[in-house]
Amino acid sequence: MGQLLILVASVTTGCKADSLGTEIDGERVPVIDMHLHTGEWDSVGFASQEFIAGNLPFPINLNPEKSGNQILAPEGIVDELDKAGVSRGVLLAVYAPRTVGVTTNEQVIDNVAQFPDRLWGLASVRVDRWNDDREPQLAALREALESPGIIGVKLAHPHMHFRMDDSAYYGIYEVAGELAKPVYLHTGTSPFPGTSPEPPYTDPRYLEDAIQSFPETIFILGHLGFDAANKRHAGLAACVDLASTYPNVYLEASALGSKNSDPTGEILREGFVAIREAGVVDRLIYGSDGPQSPGFVNDYLNRTLIALDSAGYDLNEQRAVLAGNFARVFGVEVPKL
Ligand SMILES: [Zn+2]
Repeated sequence: MGQLLILVASVTTGCKADSLGTEIDGERVPVIDMHLHTGEWDSVGFASQEFIAGNLPFPINLNPEKSGNQILAPEGIVDELDKAGVSRGVLLAVYAPRTVGVTTNEQVIDNVAQFPDRLWGLASVRVDRWNDDREPQLAALREALESPGIIGVKLAHPHMHFRMDDSAYYGIYEVAGELAKPVYLHTGTSPFPGTSPEPPYTDPRYLEDAIQSFPETIFILGHLGFDAANKRHAGLAACVDLASTYPNVYLEASALGSKNSDPTGEILREGFVAIREAGVVDRLIYGSDGPQSPGFVNDYLNRTLIALDSAGYDLNEQRAVLAGNFARVFGVEVPKL
């Protein structure tokens, strides 16, 4: 047991914040990772536990609870950011009690407050009793969005089991727009059991009505509509069309390009090519969907840099994707190096 503790500690001890940034063409470029999961082992749900445990290397996988708690805690996440040279990360609240579990707004607010110069957070909202408690839930969301360091909203229709075009939930977009807090949405299927795979929950085209109805609200389409269950493109063309048509649509590519879902990186490269050809590089925002396992945040960044380069993104375009677009849309500064 003691040996395991030492091993876990040693793999999460990274370099310090004086060497942040990643090197591209001989220049150091700041990076913001907008998609990181935090929480506690006991509350993240069985499916998430299995996922994390399945990705842990031997021997730390022998005690997945301890390792999982460590990697999901803010200290562990900041260590992973340090190792990757990532200046700032964004932690996501999750309310999906039937699938991937719960990380409350309060946990995210507390975790962000521990590292206010390294972490921001996205709040979420409980929708599983929406008919009965819509107004108090929207009030709770509003309160969370007014907390320090909370800069946007996270939703995942397939995990939370509500249709993308169900106007009963449009109050969420209304609150987000009113407070100028961008909304990040999972698009595409989910690899987790118990999620809703049908098009109204996964196909980004079902968001078009909401995107049109709330032009002041920023919609960030996560995972580019990737069919994570079958590991292939599904909603890429829809995502690119929506971004080309509507100025309030942004894109994020996590899941594509990861070692598990896209070993050669070709799916991610194809996504980047489609975005560049459509002239919407100014909408693409970087996120890893980490921390997952020790070293993942760094590894996924490296895989993204390779895909950006092979998709023909020049230095300025890569700067925009890695931090500039995020800073503009969330109204924050690009981190100084
Ligand atoms: Zn995620």
